[in-house]
Amino acid sequence: MLEVLIVEDSTALGGAIKQAIETTIKIPVTWCQSYAEAQDAIKNKGSNFFIALLDINLPDAPQGEVIDFVLSKKIPSIIFTGEFSDDARDFIWSKKNVVDYVVKEGIYTIYYVVGLIHRIYKNRNIKVMVVDDSKFSRVLMVNLLKVHQYIVFEAVDGVDALKVLKENPDIQLSIVDYNMPNMDGFELTKEIRKKYVKDEMIIIGISAHGNNIVSAKFIKNGANDYINKPFVIEEFYCRVTQNIDTIEYIQTIKDYSNKDFLTGLYNRRYLFDVGLKLFANAQRKNLSILIAMIDIDHFKKINDTFGHDSGDEVIKAVSSILQNFFRKSDVVARIGGEEFCIVATNFSYDYVKKNFNDLRKTMEEMAVYKDGKTIYATISIGVCTMLQSSFENMIKIADDMLYISKEEGRNRVTIFNE
Ligand code: GH3
Ligand code: MG
Ligand code: MG
Repeated sequence: MLEVLIVEDSTALGGAIKQAIETTIKIPVTWCQSYAEAQDAIKNKGSNFFIALLDINLPDAPQGEVIDFVLSKKIPSIIFTGEFSDDARDFIWSKKNVVDYVVKEGIYTIYYVVGLIHRIYKNRNIKVMVVDDSKFSRVLMVNLLKVHQYIVFEAVDGVDALKVLKENPDIQLSIVDYNMPNMDGFELTKEIRKKYVKDEMIIIGISAHGNNIVSAKFIKNGANDYINKPFVIEEFYCRVTQNIDTIEYIQTIKDYSNKDFLTGLYNRRYLFDVGLKLFANAQRKNLSILIAMIDIDHFKKINDTFGHDSGDEVIKAVSSILQNFFRKSDVVARIGGEEFCIVATNFSYDYVKKNFNDLRKTMEEMAVYKDGKTIYATISIGVCTMLQSSFENMIKIADDMLYISKEEGRNRVTIFNE
């Protein structure tokens, strides 16, 4: 279980940050008010802490002793300082595994620290790439990104970067040097933009030949941002963090318009947006495509017997099975109260019958526990596996097949494949 370690003797500040982390990020916090307590906490559960927030001045450690101790346990740490000076800054960055330093300045400090810890927590699932032919500069940036807990890949030039990207298409941020052999940063940026738009992949250009033309050219070729080498660590982290935050906001907005609030599945609108594209592609290339309509049986009775909230729980449980049952490339949408639609491509016809029957059985065996009661549900499925003249026609046929499943007694699969 991941945890945050706070070492802060001020009751007001430590308590407020602990509470804010536990309510907004929803991860547990161990809060120590002295160096001795921190030593104990690390002895007992050191490997749980993915990040620490450390006060430089503690009653039993006034010289920042806690910092060296926690850093020596390889726990990335945010340093809390009462005042700011160039010396303090140099002292802090001279240490390995420092995430950031924060000057205590009222309520904003709490927002900043909690936001930063949340960022680091999420970074653990974000892939980034550093592309630079200079080993020195590459290693420097890789290490900085690792302290912020990104999953980091490296490449030595543009050609190498495209190879890394092909193997890891879900990389979300690339830091790209300008001057490199084989393929330079401008060319690489142009190549990446053929596949990824700006809110799918962030590109930050860097160069030691810093003049305004290099930065302008990077941006014109499609980079999101630019950093001059050498850079100060604060600027590096700010630019990376801000860009990652931005694409996350964009993703959240997209989710609001494309996803269903109750289940997190795609909504009807997204189904038609993407379904039409998948259909056109399948038609053009003569690929396999199927549409399945799924409806929970006698759902009204579930609502009537167990209540609307329990009905919602059943819908969520069905949704989560659907989500895990299909591949990432398939579209799984909730298109009505207890109705779902699947669009899948690139499948083998031999498996369709078995797959949907397995799905039907999985639902039959699913038990939802709510308010001390156990609820069972079944689903009926209609599938159209044959390419038709339009997407709407395929949906109509899948719907007709669903109707047959219902008529024939429910909890069954009907497939149209002629
Ligand atoms: P059938 O086997 O023929 O599909 O019967 P059914 O009862 O499942 O179908 P019907 O369409 O008659 O009823 C669906 C019910 O689903 C009616 C509606 O009140 C309920 N419903 C729709 N949306 C929601 C929702 O978001 N939550 C809950 N709890 N119920 C919903
Ligand atoms: Mg129903
Ligand atoms: Mg219905």
